[in-house]
Amino acid sequence: MTCIECKKEFKFKSSIEYKCPECKGLLWFKADINSIKEKFPPIKIVNNIWDYRFAFPPISSDFHITLGEGGTPCLTSKKFGDKLGIENLYFKDESQNPTNSFKDRCAALLISHARSWDFKKFICASNGNQGASIAAYTSLEGMECLNIIPEKIDVGKKAQMIAYNSELKLVGDTVDDAIDYIQKQKDLSEYYQCTPELNPLTLEAEKTIAYEIISQIGKIDLVIIPMGSGQLLVSLWKGFNELKDANIITTIPKLVGVQSQVLSPIVNEFLEFEDNNPTNKEIHNSLALGILVKNPIYKDLAIKCIKESEGTVIAVPEDLILTSIDELIRNEGIFAEPASALAFGAIRILQQKKIFKAQEKIVCLITASGLKAPYVLEAISSQTKTTGKGSIIITKLKILSQISLTSIKGITGTKIKETMESITLAAIYQHLKELETKGLISRKKEGKKVLYFITDSGKKVLDALDVLITLL
Ligand SMILES: [Zn+2]
Repeated sequence: MTCIECKKEFKFKSSIEYKCPECKGLLWFKADINSIKEKFPPIKIVNNIWDYRFAFPPISSDFHITLGEGGTPCLTSKKFGDKLGIENLYFKDESQNPTNSFKDRCAALLISHARSWDFKKFICASNGNQGASIAAYTSLEGMECLNIIPEKIDVGKKAQMIAYNSELKLVGDTVDDAIDYIQKQKDLSEYYQCTPELNPLTLEAEKTIAYEIISQIGKIDLVIIPMGSGQLLVSLWKGFNELKDANIITTIPKLVGVQSQVLSPIVNEFLEFEDNNPTNKEIHNSLALGILVKNPIYKDLAIKCIKESEGTVIAVPEDLILTSIDELIRNEGIFAEPASALAFGAIRILQQKKIFKAQEKIVCLITASGLKAPYVLEAISSQTKTTGKGSIIITKLKILSQISLTSIKGITGTKIKETMESITLAAIYQHLKELETKGLISRKKEGKKVLYFITDSGKKVLDALDVLITLL
């Protein structure tokens, strides 16, 4: 292991080190490039992440735990690529992992490492996916697992933790608070540390996504990656870089990091913008729960990796989340979590900005399944009721929820139309008129524009719906 800050080197097996003992810097495992050169597999079926053990720190095979994680498909775009005139578009579908997220790769590696050191207790601060995966793998081993999570978290992920017998502790609003809580604990020596940002083996597990993409579809030009802490992007960079060092690829693909416009510290720093410092309310209303991080631990490193790859960053508006989920389902048959929907939503924007050429090979990373986020389930299930009065109510609710997302800024009818493909502008104005008559929205004229706002009654309707969804 090498310290990223002071460059000091440590032997991997000497003790459990999560950070540099000298300067508390992030640690980085130096993979054996010769072993990668020799053993990197050509296109073949991947059984689980242990097929890549030649690139991992040494962990005895007696402790290799697996639920069949990894080996997820890199799907050729069925329709969306054609529609946009992108010739080679792919989706790396990590929702097909055992607990429906890429974090199963991490859980397999971390829990195996911990078991090789005879740990029986596990602690993890996360905003969902990592916690759910860790709970699944510790439950398999019959071990104790404590998940520290923020109050607001995708209910599906929380339900997975409970189902897999994890103990839960709710701390703060975002994952930053949960990580702070863990770092302030005086003695955690009994616990193995599964918080992704605090365990360097997370990078090793996640880099296997890069390995798989290359063995599945060969050399690629650009990858679109959702960013919370920035760690996933750094992991992919590490994977591609190792393959480059091993002469398996000649260049690293451009890495494009995607964040939500609500909270985008990495994007802002990369573009030298001022931080957007969202209010607690804006954070509370955000749908991109999996990637809401105020102080990303891997920020500097992620920026360095993006620059080195000649990639870029993009902050995608939240009102694209639900429509992107919908569009991804209709075009590709993939049901993605909101964070990945942002990555998908970025494709069109990147094309408009001419970030890639039509014939370039592009991979969009789908990190986890939409089944983990209940409001997504609501949006999808409402589409099945598209007959008679049901569909009219659903359209009204969609419009109402779009208006509520813009809160105090307000939104025009034309802007609402942009998020709703299958309805005419005239129909939207008709719905707006009816919603206004019912007192659920109000309007204000600003120059030539008419802006719509949600009223307290409108909010109550949406809140009631939220409660209903939770009960179902
Ligand atoms: Zn150091």
